[in-house]
Amino acid sequence: MGGTVLTPQGPREADVHVAGGVITSVEGAQRASPGAAVVDAHGLYVLPGAIDVHVHSRDPGFPDKEDFGTLTAAAAAGGVTTVVDMPNTVPAVDVAGALESKAALARGKARVDFGLWALIRSTSTTEELEGLAAAGAMGFKAYLGYAFSLSRKQVLSSAALDDPDLEAPPDYGTLARLAPTMASLGLPLLIHAEDPAILAAFRRPLETYTDLLASRPPEAEAVAISAAAAIAKQSGMHLHIAHLSSALGLGAAEAAIAAGTPLSVETCPQYLWVSDQDFSRLGTTMKMFPPIRTSNDRSALIQGLTASAIAIVATDHAPHTDREKASTLEAAPAGSPGVQTLYLSCLELARRQGDVWAAARWVSEAPARLLGLDQRKGRIAPGFDADLVIVDPKGKTVVRPELMLSLQRHGALDGLAAEFAINEVYLRGMLVARGGRTRGKAAGRMVHVDTLAGAT
Ligand SMILES: [Zn+2]
Repeated sequence: MGGTVLTPQGPREADVHVAGGVITSVEGAQRASPGAAVVDAHGLYVLPGAIDVHVHSRDPGFPDKEDFGTLTAAAAAGGVTTVVDMPNTVPAVDVAGALESKAALARGKARVDFGLWALIRSTSTTEELEGLAAAGAMGFKAYLGYAFSLSRKQVLSSAALDDPDLEAPPDYGTLARLAPTMASLGLPLLIHAEDPAILAAFRRPLETYTDLLASRPPEAEAVAISAAAAIAKQSGMHLHIAHLSSALGLGAAEAAIAAGTPLSVETCPQYLWVSDQDFSRLGTTMKMFPPIRTSNDRSALIQGLTASAIAIVATDHAPHTDREKASTLEAAPAGSPGVQTLYLSCLELARRQGDVWAAARWVSEAPARLLGLDQRKGRIAPGFDADLVIVDPKGKTVVRPELMLSLQRHGALDGLAAEFAINEVYLRGMLVARGGRTRGKAAGRMVHVDTLAGAT
């Protein structure tokens, strides 16, 4: 009661009433019904729970890196009440049976609600996509240039195609072939947007961070976005650009949106807070694909976010073991954790941009729209799930490895100082975290797109 609640009409002093895990009303100060549990939020912000549309649980497949338990503990502590997991776990989520097994595994461990993305392979069929949709996939992910190990059922970043175990990566032909199916299913295609031919042309040993940037130039991102956007415009399929990293890529996305392409864009906190200048401080912790680029790219992305071309901030939470990351730039795996610092870093960025409440649009309202969940999640309004985050605007938090609940403790935002503290997090009315520690048991549910195309 009594907090500053972010409602669809803007922030205002109000009480949020909850019954059965659902918000029943958002009113001016009222008396609580007798016997109701009351949370005093005077002087605090009440925000909608974040929805991180880009996480890697590593589960099943890599329990030493992460699993649904540690992933969602970190999510809950950071105010993320829904995560959507990428399909490059092992076995990969390329058919309905794999999705169903993964959902069953997550159900017993997840502390927040979860959804699952499905994988596009170069050999995927319309029937497989329809089966995945019927099993509850939120959409499809294509890793351009990533091969597939047939024996291990695993997506691989290398593509030595003389190996008979490796299936060719999905290419623009695959996307064009399957786009009408995705359009008619009403589900989005997500792409890892780096053009493989351009990456191949610039491949080199990675001795310095300059080598790494030169090996994955921004035109690889821009070319992939433009090519996939043409397919989306022609087919009516919704295209979502994962982890946008460059000013050039942003320009390609803006041009496609201006041309009427059904396209949305996410970027990640690490591209908004970190640049190549930080490599001497962060080392391989900041190795990821696409790479964290220059301060010019960083400024352009912040501008794209505040101008709304980039609607969504997601994390690409991709932990590895600290031992794997403590390697050379060449050998260290790409990716770092981030789910726990999503809300905090976005609140701090939004505050510095002069509009704290924008953070909730980036991490909650716009992601709900992408997922087709915008009648249930992403806002504080009657009929919506009571996914609520209580934030102290007078608190202070410095991101430190010892506060992190992921198995990999070091992230690219280490050292970030935010003028906020995340006090409490509620999932459908249940307390799931307080003061950065989890509460209660694993009660996360799988979220679905309730209505497939045709019904909308
Ligand atoms: Zn990713």
